[in-house]
Amino acid sequence: MSTEPLPRIIGLTGGIASGKSTVSNMFRDLGVLVIDADVVARDVVRPGSEALVDIQNEFGPEVIHESGELDREALGKIIFSNPAARAKLNGFTHPRIAMEMLRHATEAGKSGHTFVIYDAALIVENGLHHALGGLIVVAASPESQLERMLRRDGLAVEDAQKRIDAQLPLSKKIEVADWVIHNDGTLDQTSSQVEAVFRELRENT
Ligand code: ADP
Repeated sequence: MSTEPLPRIIGLTGGIASGKSTVSNMFRDLGVLVIDADVVARDVVRPGSEALVDIQNEFGPEVIHESGELDREALGKIIFSNPAARAKLNGFTHPRIAMEMLRHATEAGKSGHTFVIYDAALIVENGLHHALGGLIVVAASPESQLERMLRRDGLAVEDAQKRIDAQLPLSKKIEVADWVIHNDGTLDQTSSQVEAVFRELRENT
């Protein structure tokens, strides 16, 4: 058994194209261990995983590619308009994602990290912030979000706007944030805010 305490786990979230990945990389550059929820979520359904076996048993072989990988598109179609199926899937994956995230955090603790960052889009939507040691929200105005989506994703204005409108409003995330990083200015201005949060965390954990 390890005797190192679990590092403080700080959530990092934002709205679509508000700059979460940009901020996440800035923390990485400062030497912070960032656990990427998307990577963990892919990892728990890798071929041979318990979650993938559960998924196959529940949804059938049609959600598995010949290669043994999960067919996300086929699964997406099944759960798209079926909340019960979606809940089943989340039951297979969410607890395992949480365990895997804690495993990464424990490993980080062993190598001396006193805090880590958990980078995930849906922290507030899933109520996870209540279980974390703090929450950073990357905020940008809807105009910045739209402009960056058009530039990054090459979407039509209406489609980009629909994606922004489909999300929990950023204001709801800001309400429960411990730190807000305002990312409407230059990257240097954002970087200064990241450094301030970093220093505070380093000095207080
Ligand atoms: P998210 O991870 O929140 O979806 P990204 O970090 O990928 O957002 O940022 C969205 C896009 O906007 C990217 O192309 C990124 O390079 C750009 N971007 C982010 N922050 C800024 C900024 N302060 N100034 C200019 N461009 C930015």
